[in-house]
Amino acid sequence: MRFSRMLLPTLKETPSDADVVSQKLMMRAGMIRKVAAGIYNLLPMGLKAVRKVEGIVREEMDRAGAQEVLMPMVVPSELWKESGRWDEYGKELLRLKDRHDREFCLGPTHEEVITDMVRREVRSYRELPLNLYQIQTKFRDEIRPRFGLMRGREFVMKDAYSFHATDESADREYQNMYETYTRIFERCSLEFRAVEAETGAIGGRFSHEFMVLAETGEDAIAACDKCSYAANVERAEVREADSAPGASSDKKIEKVNTPGKRTIEEVSAYLRIKPSGLIKTLIYETDKGTVATLVRGDYDLNEMKLKRALDASWVKLAEEAGVNGATGAPVGFAGPVGLKIRLVADLSVRVMKDAVAGANESDAHIINVNPGRDFAPEYADIRNAVEGDGCPRCRGTLSIKRGIEVGHIFKLGTKYSYSMSASFLDEGGKERPIIMGCYGIGVGRTAAASIEQNHDDYGIIWPKPLAPFDCEVVPVNVKDAGTVAEAEAIYVELKGAGIDVLLDDRDERAGVKFKDADLIGIPLRITIGERNLKEGLVELKERKGGAVRLVKRDEAVAVALGFVKG
Ligand code: ATP
Ligand code: MG
Repeated sequence: MRFSRMLLPTLKETPSDADVVSQKLMMRAGMIRKVAAGIYNLLPMGLKAVRKVEGIVREEMDRAGAQEVLMPMVVPSELWKESGRWDEYGKELLRLKDRHDREFCLGPTHEEVITDMVRREVRSYRELPLNLYQIQTKFRDEIRPRFGLMRGREFVMKDAYSFHATDESADREYQNMYETYTRIFERCSLEFRAVEAETGAIGGRFSHEFMVLAETGEDAIAACDKCSYAANVERAEVREADSAPGASSDKKIEKVNTPGKRTIEEVSAYLRIKPSGLIKTLIYETDKGTVATLVRGDYDLNEMKLKRALDASWVKLAEEAGVNGATGAPVGFAGPVGLKIRLVADLSVRVMKDAVAGANESDAHIINVNPGRDFAPEYADIRNAVEGDGCPRCRGTLSIKRGIEVGHIFKLGTKYSYSMSASFLDEGGKERPIIMGCYGIGVGRTAAASIEQNHDDYGIIWPKPLAPFDCEVVPVNVKDAGTVAEAEAIYVELKGAGIDVLLDDRDERAGVKFKDADLIGIPLRITIGERNLKEGLVELKERKGGAVRLVKRDEAVAVALGFVKG
């Protein structure tokens, strides 16, 4: 490809509406342009990078035995009503009507469509298992589209769905997909971790997110420094350093005035006690009734864990009136002592001694509160993991890292096959619901995540497998006929050898061309200049690491080939 002919509008300035490095660089490198919030044009350079990711995904999915299909983006509401998600999904689902006033949505995910496809075609256990995937455009009306391709409203996803007669078969495919995803992200040269993820209503440990480690990641991950344990902070378990209560205290409970001091910070500053010496009491409304939750003052309650501990289908922080009804006090003064509702305490509370808690009356707290002696809660792990917590699997320590979720695998069980009556006949001729799994990869997000991990002050540093071009040829001065002749010859030779080459044939200053080369980040640059040519030499420069070598003109193509294929 000739730079002069390519729609490759590089920008010198960083666009003001870009927030993260990948978005800035994709804009500056002429890869993407915004059409509307979360909706982008992919320019040739952008599309080439995205196609590289797609290619790897497709190869590995095919190798894993999955079959590619293509489903429609516009989906009739009937299917979503059958599964119950038409009402559940909320505003991310973009709904529309056709000329006959029939309701449709733009597919944000395709469990309904594929379950419908399979229930029409599959009758017997003999036709199972099946794994069907597509690489297709999704639409989710995200509340905060941002970060370019990372969180778009319209974006390309690889979504796969598997169908099984038995649980064992579904578990095997889950493992197969786990390994396939690992290979895909390794081939994309990403530094990532597979982390245990929240499964929502379905439960079990059958969901992993594949997280690319990057400071700009929107998710927090707790990862062990000794073993392979890693989990989304939403679900990371915590090994309490010491969960056995010590000898009980003989100090008596005492009420103290705390006028207008409601928050942990205010109370701890006022009483000159560290937040870790306070018990934080939060009142929750749940489908299992009203509960008071207790965590150590310096920790945060984790609502997902609370939901699981209560086996509740929803939990919601009580409003002023609810708190008042449960404690008889305004918000900010709740405490466990004397409270008549269900108490659920985090494990960290069990070992607290002479703690401070709310007095259940206005402007007062009590000190010298001792769990066990002064109140008897149920205990459960209901707090967020923090840096330095003990690993739940080994003696190691957890650290908190930021991650970008690029993939998600999930064992669905019979959620959709049950609600949509997708069944098969087993060996005994009995009708059973099909067992399902689903597996997604954000294609554009993966390309963006690669840039988050591979860039410097000058631009993108593409890893070879995702690079839009293998090699860039830069004639320093296109007014010099000798330079142009050699550059054209090398360009033709490389193309002949099956290498995807960009020739910067623009009549621009060398500085401009080098800046753009660094910005767009092609792994290898071959620079052809008059001075080197006189000695029969050209320069090869690697974008990653910056290594430069002068090689004989006649050997340049062979050396470049060795680099690209190596
Ligand atoms: P997130 O928590 O980031 O919103 P999700 O849990 O909604 O992601 P899934 O429904 O599991 O995502 O979708 C599968 C994959 O699709 C994700 O792992 C991610 O890589 C990608 N993806 C999801 N939402 C977006 C988006 N708005 N823009 C780009 N890619 C997305
Ligand atoms: Mg989402």
